[in-house]
Amino acid sequence: MYDIFIIGSGVSGGFIALELSKYDLKIAIAEKSLDPANGCSRANSGIVHGGYDPIPGTLKAKLNVRGTEMMLEMAERLHIDYDRCGAYVIAFGEDDDKKAYELYQRGLTNGVEHLSIVSGDELLKREPNISKDVTSALHSGTTGIISPYKMAIASTELACTNGVEFLRAHTVIGMEDMGDYIRIDTDKGVYEAKYVVNAAGVNSAKIARMLGDDSFDIIARKGEYLILDKSESGIVNSVIFQMPSKMGKGILVSPTIDGNVLLGPTSHNVDDMYDKSTTKDGIAEAIRGAKRSVPTVNERKLITMFAGVRSVPTTGDFVIGQSKANPRLFNVAGIESPGLTSSPAIAEYLVGIMKDCGIEMSTKKTYVMNRPAEKKPRLMSQADANALIAKEPAYGKIVCRCEQVTEGEILDAIRRPAGAVTVDGVKMRVRAGMGRCQGGFCTSRVIEILARELGVSQTEIRKQNEDSKMLYRTLREE
Ligand SMILES: Cc1cc2nc3c(=O)[nH]c(=O)nc-3n(C[C@H](O)[C@H](O)[C@H](O)COP(=O)(O)OP(=O)(O)OC[C@H]3O[C@@H](n4cnc5c(N)ncnc54)[C@H](O)[C@@H]3O)c2cc1C
Repeated sequence: MYDIFIIGSGVSGGFIALELSKYDLKIAIAEKSLDPANGCSRANSGIVHGGYDPIPGTLKAKLNVRGTEMMLEMAERLHIDYDRCGAYVIAFGEDDDKKAYELYQRGLTNGVEHLSIVSGDELLKREPNISKDVTSALHSGTTGIISPYKMAIASTELACTNGVEFLRAHTVIGMEDMGDYIRIDTDKGVYEAKYVVNAAGVNSAKIARMLGDDSFDIIARKGEYLILDKSESGIVNSVIFQMPSKMGKGILVSPTIDGNVLLGPTSHNVDDMYDKSTTKDGIAEAIRGAKRSVPTVNERKLITMFAGVRSVPTTGDFVIGQSKANPRLFNVAGIESPGLTSSPAIAEYLVGIMKDCGIEMSTKKTYVMNRPAEKKPRLMSQADANALIAKEPAYGKIVCRCEQVTEGEILDAIRRPAGAVTVDGVKMRVRAGMGRCQGGFCTSRVIEILARELGVSQTEIRKQNEDSKMLYRTLREE
């Protein structure tokens, strides 16, 4: 019997598991995919927002500001890169100038620091590639960039180091209240838990209904993106937003934490919650929007496209807390933007609520605070890299030429707690396949290493989910 059973290992589930792992509790985190971060946390803008956009008084506003505050320490503890590069929300004309000022005021009300209004001329000095039609901008000095999937993976990994069980490829298909506990049916077997945390992203309304909670619904809203080659880095130094609207924060042009340039997202409601397709129209819209802000954007430097689906709650705010329909259920639902930013704060807030509800939590004597740093020979001095390679030769074998990723790093990604078992799992952890050739050279090598390490045939290695086969049979079998 688990004390707490978390459904979903996006950033919400990952950080909740990490926060709960401080206590003497038996915890599992069930994820329907083979690796963490396969929902919304995999495909978004990767911005740690300042907190000037959410409506004052909402959970979004409170947890956004707290999340940004926590992010520096959290990124250090998890050893993930985070850059407070700042952001500009740009205005085109008088109406937008007023909106920029309103956002500034709203930010002050939300308690956001380092906000200011700059003129169009001043912005051009700071960001020379920006459109000359920009009349003013809101500058947010606390906005930053981070890898969203690394956040989900690293938090899950450290939670597992602290005793949480990661149940990969476990889809929750039903739940029943048994009085003293909840029975959880998954496609891989039945589990029992005293409490359930529903952090299932777009599926969270469906999960809540399994225990009779129909207090909210989720609207799926897709956003399409383009990633430009690293040769374009430097086109902007900070995140460039347009004015936010009811449909989202608008199309941005942003550096990514790994040195690429991100354009997007679009914002359109979709019927299919799993519709992650990119479309000709969506990509054209993202390019048009990006060029309005930064006319020199060169879409010919595109290396890949992707789409993410927002979980928009019908309540208008994050749904976090004990369910009124079933006290054993805690919802963390409708976590749309700024959910990534808020995730460490969401975990802190939820665990506070769980304690207030009387769930006993005694602090563990042995809690591991930090996730070990990754060894990356490409970032080491020659002497340090040579010393590492002499001890562990796998760090001397380059597998992904574009991103200079070594076999040692891939082995490490597989061997860490809740480690990679898929090609995308390796890609999200160490960037093998993320470069200019998008895995053209290294995918077969990654499959080979995964199969060897996991002791399975290469045909059993999947791209992402259980049904995403990559190889059907080997030529040798032929
Ligand atoms: C286009 C876009 C741009 C965004 N940009 C930003 C941004 O720049 N900054 C920001 O702060 N936020 C941003 N967000 C919001 C942010 O991505 C989300 O708030 C955050 O990722 C939500 O995380 P989550 O863990 O709640 O959900 P998810 O990441 O979706 O995780 C839910 C998990 O539950 C699993 N699951 C679902 N059903 C089941 C089941 N039945 N059994 C087991 N597992 C299940 C899924 O596989 C998934 O892994 C953006 C979102 C989108 C879509």
